[in-house]
Amino acid sequence: MLCVWLRRAAQVIDDRQDSLSVLDAVIGDGDHGANMARGFRAVAGKLDEPPPDVAALLKLVGMTLISTVGGASGPLYGTFFLDMGKAARDVSALDVPAWRTLLAAGVAGVAARGKAVAGDKTMLDALIPAVAALSGTQSGPDTPQALARAAEAARQGAEATIPMIARKGRASYLGERSAGHEDPGAASSALLLTALADTAG
Ligand code: ADP
Ligand code: MG
Ligand code: MG
Repeated sequence: MLCVWLRRAAQVIDDRQDSLSVLDAVIGDGDHGANMARGFRAVAGKLDEPPPDVAALLKLVGMTLISTVGGASGPLYGTFFLDMGKAARDVSALDVPAWRTLLAAGVAGVAARGKAVAGDKTMLDALIPAVAALSGTQSGPDTPQALARAAEAARQGAEATIPMIARKGRASYLGERSAGHEDPGAASSALLLTALADTAG
């Protein structure tokens, strides 16, 4: 399942790289789509002979993103996957509680590394609502349904960055002029969650 997600993510990021870079051109330096496409192409290249377990695969993804994406988002997405990998040592099946554990660990890692909080107009504004959506899920719904809810929360979270004033990253240099535009990192995070939901089950 993880490999299917990662391949889909690479495909979607590649398809959407121009629109991600356009978002970044408005409030940053215009490279977010290219950065992410380069990183996920490198990830996809490692999936033909993936490591045997979830923890090792997530770690490999994190290392690959750190060494290929660059910019602010490279170390942050790298940390996201590395910290998911560490948390994966404690999970067996990739059910809803497991995804909640993994994604919460990844998000905590991003927040610690980037010293950002909700409302700073970053990728966290898509990722935090996604984890919250999973946390609100009781044992009832099956995994695809829960991940679809998380993806929808991430999409809404990314959209909600539009009126925000950026307090982290390049967009923060614009101050109030960063308002009125969607954050590119939040947009790419929503794509990753959507790819996960689309390949679950
Ligand atoms: P750069 O800004 O170095 O060109 P990218 O364009 O690849 O890097 O990534 C920009 C994205 O990184 C932003 O849209 C934002 O979502 C995210 N980002 C930047 N700084 C932080 C931070 N401190 N915490 C969380 N996310 C951040
Ligand atoms: Mg950029
Ligand atoms: Mg850059």
